[in-house]
Amino acid sequence: MSDKTNGFGRRSFLKQGLTGLAAIGAAPGVVKAAALGGEGTAPSAGQAGGRPIVRTLGRTGLKMPIVSMGVMNADNPAVVQAALDTGITLLDTAWGYQRGRNEQMIGEVVKGRPRDSYLVATKIHGPFRDKALVGLKGEAFEKPFLAKLDVCLGRLGLDYVDILYLHNNTEAEHVQDEGVIAAFEKAKKSGKARFVGITTHANEPAVIRYTIAAKAYDVILTGYNFMMDYREDLRRAVAEAAAAGLGVIAMKTQAGVYWDKAKTQKINMRAALKWVLNDPNVTTAVPGFTTFDQLKEDWSVVSDISLSPEEIKDLRLGESVAGLYCQQCGRCVAGCSRALPIPDLMRGYMYAYGYRNLQAAHELVGSLEIDGNPCGDCAGCTAACVKGFDVADRVRDISRLKNIPGDFFA
Ligand code: SF4
Ligand code: SF4
Repeated sequence: MSDKTNGFGRRSFLKQGLTGLAAIGAAPGVVKAAALGGEGTAPSAGQAGGRPIVRTLGRTGLKMPIVSMGVMNADNPAVVQAALDTGITLLDTAWGYQRGRNEQMIGEVVKGRPRDSYLVATKIHGPFRDKALVGLKGEAFEKPFLAKLDVCLGRLGLDYVDILYLHNNTEAEHVQDEGVIAAFEKAKKSGKARFVGITTHANEPAVIRYTIAAKAYDVILTGYNFMMDYREDLRRAVAEAAAAGLGVIAMKTQAGVYWDKAKTQKINMRAALKWVLNDPNVTTAVPGFTTFDQLKEDWSVVSDISLSPEEIKDLRLGESVAGLYCQQCGRCVAGCSRALPIPDLMRGYMYAYGYRNLQAAHELVGSLEIDGNPCGDCAGCTAACVKGFDVADRVRDISRLKNIPGDFFA
């Protein structure tokens, strides 16, 4: 592994671990949850194979098992089919995933199924991520913005989505934009979106609080995992959102899937998923499985989220291994002499080497204003990563995607 031992100190990890890892793992029986058929207490250790734990998504009232499906990386409709047949109800996709083919695939899978037997969530970018919408106001903004929802519905073959998200938010102005809020209200009134929400995978605690203050959304989809340095603050923000009636769904729960680029060491998937689901304010998680085995593995935690000492020990590997997951904290950026978009590049790196989704990595890298060798002759990297990533090595590696024409991935 080329990464050096990370800067995430043992002391700090253990200190946070007491509240963030061990304590949660030690008290599985106190997790509030709703079993199928009524509210209750999550099963304790040893009750694997029991009924799925079902929770309610805030004020939406939607009930769903604690394990859902992030469809982003999946390209086998049989796996999505199997997920629904297994008991998963929520399918999470986005306007841009696989250039629209992801939504089309879901549309094929759900065709003929009773509409009340599954839930579909999709995401569209607002003016902060979609340059074509910048500066537009009123109807000039709403029309093209909401036209994207119509495109989603057309691909899905549906009259409505259950949740429409504003995709990828990092600042207050993103989630509090009046034009976006008005357009989302229209989407709800028209019946094309039952509920609306936002997604965030950087600066999450602050974005969650901005979203609560906006009083305009029903659901928050947030990055949330055991590798985050700020996981305790995130846990508090999630509790605040739940107290305000918002439903909270977790993504990026398995922190990049592998500890290393060569895929020699896999993160304990079950432990990572259970860790986040032990937060009773998280309704469900959307792990991005792509195979039947991964579906089986993720679904296997649905009735028992107790963490064994061995699993907690596995999660503590993060103490000495940097991993592939970039928590998007941006603390490296000020040190970069060329002010490169390092968090985005690191996310692309995780897509490529953790998720093995080269198309998503290519699209992300392609959207950045860099060339294929952005570090150039910069000698001696001064961009220090708090997790201990070898920043220059990863930037040089993933930026090569910039030189590959998009039609390779079409
Ligand atoms: S090597 Fe690259 S990432 Fe590091 S400081 Fe130079 S330009 Fe920035
Ligand atoms: S690469 Fe930068 S943004 Fe990512 S975890 Fe390290 S310091 Fe944070």
